[in-house]
Amino acid sequence: MPKNERTNSAYEKAPPGLIAGCPKCEDGMLRRIATRSGGSFFGCNNYDKGCHFTIPAVIAGKTLNLRSIRELCSHGSTSLLIGFHSKTGQLFNSRLRLDEALRVVFDFAGISRQGNTVLSGGRIRAQNSEAKHG
Ligand SMILES: [Zn+2]
Repeated sequence: MPKNERTNSAYEKAPPGLIAGCPKCEDGMLRRIATRSGGSFFGCNNYDKGCHFTIPAVIAGKTLNLRSIRELCSHGSTSLLIGFHSKTGQLFNSRLRLDEALRVVFDFAGISRQGNTVLSGGRIRAQNSEAKHG
């Protein structure tokens, strides 16, 4: 049922549903953008200024909730998410994180792997190899 009918002009002037700060340009905000095929994704509202950061709304058959989107943007990773579907139809659980290129990748660190399907281009890295500095 529609809960946000545009019945008054104040609604038109209100900012659209902004979900989280953009981790790429650190200036824009992410909002949900509908696609013509009926799906949606989250994109930076600084697109016109050259920031093309996006997060898919659905990853491996799982619809991300807004909390996960916010975690990803503010912390660079999510808590454990349940119910992804691999290409072979298997269910698996994983965290998501942003890699150094700010792409969304699976993060299986500390999780027993059930299947090794990752997003195209996704790479799983050991996390304990960072050199200390200071
Ligand atoms: Zn941005």
